[in-house]
Amino acid sequence: MGCVTPDADTIDHAAVVAWIRRFAAEIDEHRAELVRLDTAIGDGDHGTNMDRGMRKVVEKLDGAAGDDIGALLKAAGMALVSSVGGAAGPLYGTLFLQMGSATGGAATLDTAGLTQALEAGLRGVQARGKAEPGDKTMVDALVPAVEALHRAQSDGVAVGEAARLAAAAAEEGMKATIPMEARKGRASYLGPRSVGHQDPGATSSYLLLRSAAEAFANT
Ligand code: ADP
Ligand code: MG
Repeated sequence: MGCVTPDADTIDHAAVVAWIRRFAAEIDEHRAELVRLDTAIGDGDHGTNMDRGMRKVVEKLDGAAGDDIGALLKAAGMALVSSVGGAAGPLYGTLFLQMGSATGGAATLDTAGLTQALEAGLRGVQARGKAEPGDKTMVDALVPAVEALHRAQSDGVAVGEAARLAAAAAEEGMKATIPMEARKGRASYLGPRSVGHQDPGATSSYLLLRSAAEAFANT
């Protein structure tokens, strides 16, 4: 108070690095759970796919200099696209690439900036995967998160608290996939037998938002 704190309500490059590292750690911690979820309604590789990808992303971070958040997110997206196969690799790659495009040249993000970034990422995922809310995919965690960010933005909520609200909304969206019947991806081959299982991609997307909330907690 009284001192110069122009960035009090923003996150910087270092905070986004912390977010990505935290997400990689969450994926590592929950790898077995993601495998279990994907074994129930897919082919059991979601945890290993995401873990391989996020390890590559973290390797790239070690060489990430500068303060451009967009360049950082794009580098993460490229690492994911080039290292992870299946459905989720390209979809998460697109999410990060589009978040990077939306934040190109930015050294800081406020709640509006974070909202625009995640919304651009979600749009990329939907353009690529054609999933709508209710199809039992990662989109079911990301849509409520983006909606929560928009509400936070119009309520004038600071970015750290906005990320916490987005994570809570993503968690609800993740849980809401349990009774859904899958209409996209491998799980859709099961038809009604996909009902009663939580979607693995919605679970990893919740972890992405929870990681943001943890990384931005002091903001
Ligand atoms: P694969 O299905 O190729 O084995 P993963 O197991 O890594 O790939 O990822 C599965 C997750 O990908 C699903 O749980 C779902 O959330 C997500 N997914 C699959 N297809 C789509 C799609 N068309 N749009 C959005 N998300 C999708
Ligand atoms: Mg799979």
